[in-house]
Amino acid sequence: MMRERQCFRCGKVLDFESYIKNSSLKNEEYLTELWNNEHIEFYCCHCYCFKIKYQPNLDFEEYY
Ligand SMILES: [Zn+2]
Repeated sequence: MMRERQCFRCGKVLDFESYIKNSSLKNEEYLTELWNNEHIEFYCCHCYCFKIKYQPNLDFEEYY
């Protein structure tokens, strides 16, 4: 049974199929393990991009 996953930041429901498809890892068994691991939180694509672009030392305007 797959857990239901939601984005840790925005609460958007995440889709396991897309997660598998978009992952750079191709080991589905390992990805399934991560998905079911309660110590790991996932972000949707939008929030993940947001997260890696966020630069606390730069001005707000440059990034939004
Ligand atoms: Zn999100």
